[in-house]
Amino acid sequence: MPAKIIDGKAIASEIREDIKREVDAVKKEKGIIPGLAVVLVGEDPASQTYVRNKEKACQKVGMYSEVYRLPAETTQEKVLAVVDELNQNPKIHGILVQLPLPDHIDEKAVINAINPDKDVDGFHPVNVGKLYIGDPGFVPCTPNGVIELLERSGVAIKGKEAVVVGRSNIVGKPVAQLLLARHATVTICHSRTSDLASHTRRAEILVVATGRAKMITGDMVKEGAVVIDVGVNRVDGKLVGDVDFDAASQRASAITPVPGGVGPMTITMLLKNTLQAAQ
Ligand code: NDP
Repeated sequence: MPAKIIDGKAIASEIREDIKREVDAVKKEKGIIPGLAVVLVGEDPASQTYVRNKEKACQKVGMYSEVYRLPAETTQEKVLAVVDELNQNPKIHGILVQLPLPDHIDEKAVINAINPDKDVDGFHPVNVGKLYIGDPGFVPCTPNGVIELLERSGVAIKGKEAVVVGRSNIVGKPVAQLLLARHATVTICHSRTSDLASHTRRAEILVVATGRAKMITGDMVKEGAVVIDVGVNRVDGKLVGDVDFDAASQRASAITPVPGGVGPMTITMLLKNTLQAAQ
């Protein structure tokens, strides 16, 4: 039987409705308008699109947003000064610095300068540490979106064999940590894993975030597995995931499409974190 499609667009829009209601409540009860500041350095077209989408998403749920568009040649000192100003700004509850930054700017220095209480991307070492020790903090948006998709689709995580392919700091590692915190038995695979298929074939929950188009073929998927494809790759002008969707959906019990799976969840989780920061 073909897999159930996990509709990220529909789930994201449900969550955004809830967020909108909560934003209204915070405004009424506390007189606070949750505010997000986005800092964009340079003219990278993909980053410009992401930032525009974040701005629009904020407006739609009634949040306040500010975008700082700085030229590519902006010095690191200037970027740090902007971050410092935003750390002090009472109208701003969440700060996001759009990555990647130009080569002459030290990304770590900029992320470390964000007040951890306003770090809605969840990349500051304080929030990374909290995630690892199980303390409440900001969780990175895409990994948080992966977990929401599983939970809202009624997938039980506890006791499951989960395999995460990819170990980046922004997707693979935090996804693995969140699954572990929900009592899955977690294996993390990467480019040096030998016999990747032997791991993926054991996975009852398979999360793939490699940026390699269709690298997970149908025969690498366990019968009945739940497959979450984080990858976004452009092939012949079309967006495809890291999983061969047509083949995998013949074996999986549920699967996310690309586009329309994890993608719509990322900005939604950013809104959720900004609301949390304001609350
Ligand atoms: P990175 O390039 O930072 O990390 C990729 C990871 O995949 C690395 O850990 C790498 O291993 C591993 N990998 C690469 N090739 C293989 C292979 N052949 N076998 C096993 N593992 C492999 O990517 P990101 O984590 O930032 O992103 C991953 C994908 O998710 C991309 O397509 C990106 O566009 C997408 N993405 C989507 C988002 C969304 O909102 N939907 C948000 C963020 C990312 P190693 O560490 O050994 O190099």
